[in-house]
Amino acid sequence: MVFGDGDGQVFQRFTKSLSVIGHELAHGVTQYSAGLVYRNQAGALNESMSDVFGVLVEQFVQQQPAAEAGWLIGEGLFTDQVQGTALRSMKAPGTAYDDDVLGKDPQPDSMDGYVHTSADNGGVHINSGIPNRAFYLVATTLGGNAWDAPGRIWYQTLTGGTLSPTATFGAFAKATAASAKELFGVDSKEHDAVRSAWETVKVKLPGVRRKPSS
Ligand SMILES: [Zn+2]
Repeated sequence: MVFGDGDGQVFQRFTKSLSVIGHELAHGVTQYSAGLVYRNQAGALNESMSDVFGVLVEQFVQQQPAAEAGWLIGEGLFTDQVQGTALRSMKAPGTAYDDDVLGKDPQPDSMDGYVHTSADNGGVHINSGIPNRAFYLVATTLGGNAWDAPGRIWYQTLTGGTLSPTATFGAFAKATAASAKELFGVDSKEHDAVRSAWETVKVKLPGVRRKPSS
């Protein structure tokens, strides 16, 4: 792996952040499991997988429960000349930085803000905010440690062999719900938390109808 050593103006060395190191290693896991294509929604899922497992590595090392974690990727990488706390926020995508030189964090936090662009391989580092927040919502809804049930559900989805390399957000959402059901049962709080997280970020699960509420 090759990490930037920073320019001293905007960035410090990238190896300062454990979530960034975990992020890069997770790309290797994705490449040799689901093999998500690095473009458009599949590419944003590839990026999101790396943010999820990057942040889990950091939380595990610090033994930090979901409710106490900062949910930031690359916290402390910016020099103090930059108005920002991290590269990305999984808890509140779009709020990690807002700076004269860097501009504002462009991540949307739901499908309402989905960015259609040809830049960044179709927005792989931008729209990843949507599945990132879904994971955060599952983890904080369930409480406890995010590397337990939520991490298992996401890892099972990534490595279980059923996810297409060109999966859309909807297909991935459906696959996480299927993993939750397989691991914890159809009536489990885990299955429920997964489905409601995707609903909050406005990703529709294809072919799944919610029970009428009345
Ligand atoms: Zn990446």
